[in-house]
Amino acid sequence: MRYGALEGGGTKMVMAVADENLNILTRETIPTKTPAETMPAMIEFFQGQKIDALGIGCFGPLDLKPSSPAFGSIAKTPKLAWRDYPLMPEFQKALQVPCAIDTDVNAAALCELKLGAGKGLNNCVYVTVGTGIGGGVVCEGNLVHGLMHPEWGHILLAPHPDDPMPQGACPYHVSCLEGLASGPAMEKRWGVPGRELPPDHPAWKLEAHYLAQMCVAALMMVSTEKIILGGGVMSQKQLFPMIREEVLRMLGGYLHCVENADDLIVPPACWPDSGLLGSVLLAKMALEEKK
Ligand code: ZN
Repeated sequence: MRYGALEGGGTKMVMAVADENLNILTRETIPTKTPAETMPAMIEFFQGQKIDALGIGCFGPLDLKPSSPAFGSIAKTPKLAWRDYPLMPEFQKALQVPCAIDTDVNAAALCELKLGAGKGLNNCVYVTVGTGIGGGVVCEGNLVHGLMHPEWGHILLAPHPDDPMPQGACPYHVSCLEGLASGPAMEKRWGVPGRELPPDHPAWKLEAHYLAQMCVAALMMVSTEKIILGGGVMSQKQLFPMIREEVLRMLGGYLHCVENADDLIVPPACWPDSGLLGSVLLAKMALEEKK
């Protein structure tokens, strides 16, 4: 059995093939240009690999409503060349194998639950904090969909009283998570990229405060058993203890089962392949569903 996997990102497309034990046999990365430029190269790669199914974990928003005529398409993304592009239908047409699609972060959440930091659990939330902020949710073993899929990056937060940019930087919302805590938001607020700020800069306290609000929302709303934080901004390891401490402070002892957050808020175990391996799992599920 050969599972094809595509992790679709705004700057690069990572393609891979895995065997039935989910070992990655080969991979190739190409830049994300327009569909006319990028799709033929991807189709050629997968055609040459004789795959039995394809799993796609892609940037959103996506149309994931099975009853929708645009099911499997990219929706109103700010990446204009890909807006309304029928991504999964085009692969299905070209490859003639079972295909599945989900958000890159839902794929990563699935991977971490099955193979990584959430192994053995039924519920986890995976949030990537980088150029954008996105979150995937697994509840009772199932990826969460509904109207479309969770848009964790755009939950609204209470701005910190010391924040010099309390309205945030999102073009759609005032004080949403992505607008307050993404990499570009940090750069807009402080004038330099986050990686150039020293670990004791007030930026990190603010960042931890906002990510802690998100973690508290995840605990309160979906009673998640694990919050997995990945992405470029989270490579600043000083953030983890700061977020955990802030979460405990915000919870105020209300959740009796949370005495410390050391095992509750963690980095991904499959980084940097959580999204790619999650896409392999989506391919496996697509094939099993077909049988
Ligand atoms: Zn927003």
